[in-house]
Order: sequence, then structure tokens, then C-alpha cells
Amino acid sequence: MQEQAIAWRHAGDDIGVVPTMGALHAGHDSLVARARRENRRVIVSIFVNPAQFGPNEDFDKYPRPFDQDRNRLDALGVDAIFHPSVDQIYPPAFKTRLDPGPLGDVLEGRSRPGHFAGVLTVVLKLFSLTQPKRAYFGQKDFQQVVLVRQMVRDFALPVRIVAVPTVREADGLAISSRNVYLNPTQRQTAPVIHQALTQVAGAFTAGETEPARLEGLARERLAAAHGLTLDYVSVVDETTLRRPERAIPGSVLVVAVKLGSIRLIDNVVLGAERP
Ligand code: AMP
Repeated sequence: MQEQAIAWRHAGDDIGVVPTMGALHAGHDSLVARARRENRRVIVSIFVNPAQFGPNEDFDKYPRPFDQDRNRLDALGVDAIFHPSVDQIYPPAFKTRLDPGPLGDVLEGRSRPGHFAGVLTVVLKLFSLTQPKRAYFGQKDFQQVVLVRQMVRDFALPVRIVAVPTVREADGLAISSRNVYLNPTQRQTAPVIHQALTQVAGAFTAGETEPARLEGLARERLAAAHGLTLDYVSVVDETTLRRPERAIPGSVLVVAVKLGSIRLIDNVVLGAERP
């Protein structure tokens, strides 16, 4: 993969890379389509990264429908699918791990210790193997985008990070590979997450800028949903992930909930034209 990528770059071709864990859906399609528009070459990686799963998470049962993914990517037209084995990425002699720093300890990082160390370690290795000029990440995983951008700045990596808007089901639920785990009742409840986010975005647009009040609105709406437990809801700055004294356009409301054992995250950028 690395030899091919370097050859493309030497030939003057820009490479756009879309890192994924497979089980591809319309959200991934949107990243690939954007990469396709902006680069001569597009590489999609499919790698279920054990380093970013906690011991009690779903690494073993994470869906891996590779043939289906390959057909989907063939139809979209990509130049390469990079589908390494765990041993190829982490051979026995592999030793180094990235420390994400303080941004990795809050929100998702607090609920999933070690998650972002695993993410950044694999993303850095994927960048080295695929030599992207641009790399595409979903806004749905907002904290992931923040941390990857921080890493790119800190290490002066010659990669532009492109955040792609969240693709949603018709009822607003953010599309996720994990949605297939929801039972019919949970699936019916799940759109309340986006409803709560939309309500808060509306309140911000109407003039409410007090973070605690905005969070309270979301919390109330989510508390009314049956069978849903709240992990966190927080207004954060788009770069520092700190809670601002007042929300401003560009502040982000981030939410994580559990429906049964299934953890779902979502977010909305406040003051965006289309929340
Ligand atoms: P995953 O395969 O879940 O690791 O996701 C691969 C990439 O697709 C990540 O950058 C995700 O943020 C992005 N992604 C996942 N779901 C969506 C969605 N509904 N809309 C846009 N991007 C998404």
C-alpha cells in the first residue's frame, strides 16, 4: 500500500483517504463521494482497530461484511481498498502508542479509557501507509475530528483534515454501523437524540447562550425518553473541548446516550445554518 501511495504522489496525484471500520453505509458513502470530488486518487481503508475498543466493548462482534463493502466501494469508484489484517498493522514487534493528551480524557475518552490513544495510533499509521493529501472524517465523531486535527498540528503532518456533515436517517437518527443492534423499540426511541439536539440549536438561535440551560433542555428532552440513559450532554468549544462561559456560533453540543447496552453519540454545531 505504501509503495503504491508513494508512487501516486510522485506522479503528482493527490490522494484522499477515508479511514473506516467497514460495514459501510450512507455516512461512509458521503465521505467517499467528497474524497472522490477533491482528489485524483481515493483510498478507503477498512480496519476494525482492536486498539480503540475497550475490554468490554464489541470488537469481536463488530460487523465485518467485507464482500458487501467491496461491492459498495466498487460502485462508488475508488482506486484502492486497504484492508490489512490486525497482524499487519500491529505485528508482534509493534511497541509505540500515541498519547492523545488532555483532550483524550474528556467526554468519549472519559467513558472509553484508551479509546483515543488507539484511534490516533492507527490513524497515524494509516496516514504513513496511504500518504494522504486530504483525509475525510465524519462530524458525527466530533471529538475524533478534534483529536486528529490536534495530532496533525502537533506533529506538522502534511495532511488536511476534512470534516464531513453527519448523514441521517429520514427520522433524524445519525446513521451508524451500530444502529443494527437496536431492537425495534430502541430504534423507535433513538430519533429523540436528534430531536433534542435540534431543539437546543433552536434555543441557541432564539438567544439562549447559557451552557447549563442549553444542556438542561437536552437533558430534559432525553430524560423523557423511555429506556434511554444519558452518559453526557455538554456544550463545548470546537477546538479546546472546554465548556465556554457562553455558547457562541461554532460551539458544539455533544451527547452520548445508552439504549440498553448500545451506546450512541451525536452532536450539533450551534449557529450553523443547517443544524
Ligand atoms: P467508522 O467506520 O464507524 O469508524 O466510521 C468511519 C468514518 O465514517 C468516521 O470518520 C465516521 O465519523 C464517519 N461516519 C460514520 N457515520 C457517519 C455518518 N452518519 N455521517 C457521516 N460520517 C459518518
